[in-house]
Amino acid sequence: MSLYIGGATIIVVPPADALPMARSEVQRWVQTAATALTNYFGGFPVPALRIEIASDETGKIHNGVTFEGKLIRIRLGRDTQPSDLAADWKMTHEMFHLAFPDLDEKYLWMEEGLSDYLEPLSRARIGDLTPGQVWAGFVEGMPQGQPEPGDQGLDVTHTWGRTYWGGAIFWLLADVKIREQTHNQKSVDDAIKAILSAGGDGSAKWPLDRVLSTGDRATGTTVLKDLHDQMGAAPVKVDLDGLWKKLGIRDENGKVTFDDAAPLADIRKSMTR
Ligand SMILES: [Zn+2]
Repeated sequence: MSLYIGGATIIVVPPADALPMARSEVQRWVQTAATALTNYFGGFPVPALRIEIASDETGKIHNGVTFEGKLIRIRLGRDTQPSDLAADWKMTHEMFHLAFPDLDEKYLWMEEGLSDYLEPLSRARIGDLTPGQVWAGFVEGMPQGQPEPGDQGLDVTHTWGRTYWGGAIFWLLADVKIREQTHNQKSVDDAIKAILSAGGDGSAKWPLDRVLSTGDRATGTTVLKDLHDQMGAAPVKVDLDGLWKKLGIRDENGKVTFDDAAPLADIRKSMTR
């Protein structure tokens, strides 16, 4: 099947045997993720995408892989239900890899963390998640990215937690700092859009310095360079509880409520809007 979204042609190739569900459900799944990306960037980040779906005897939606800014491969297990596709984050996560350059292996945390960070924000902005769901996910997930005893900086320690959630902490902190320093006029969004506009999509291989300088120039700050100087080389334990408090996020056993009198409440609201 073919979809035309945000100026892009997306070809979805179903498995040779059979999809575990109706094609219309699969189409809606791809379409929702592509709409989140299109809304985020003001157009789909690459002109053409091929999505190859394979079936699997077991499980539900398996982890996908994105190749060179033009191909996503993902497996759907036999137990996948339409509700799993409706709640899925993995397709959106993979699509964000289309919109950011390939970096040296030791900076994989920066690519994975960015996809992890932007996926829920972009879905909230099209109404696919509520702000409460976004922040509940961050409050639960981010602590997994803190350095463990013996861990080094993000450029050195490449465990699952540091790569995915440690990378997400980096981008969250960057977003808050950019917004604080620019009176909420600029954000990580401006940095990422500038990198994409300069040709930094998933088909390009960039040195890290180019990512940091292009992003920082777009926000008129040095937040990305400064944060990488701190978190890349050495383990930095971030005061997440203090950050949630400043943003006005209260967590009561997984249920998030908001405090709009908190000092960074407006910043928090802008992130999912
Ligand atoms: Zn990924």
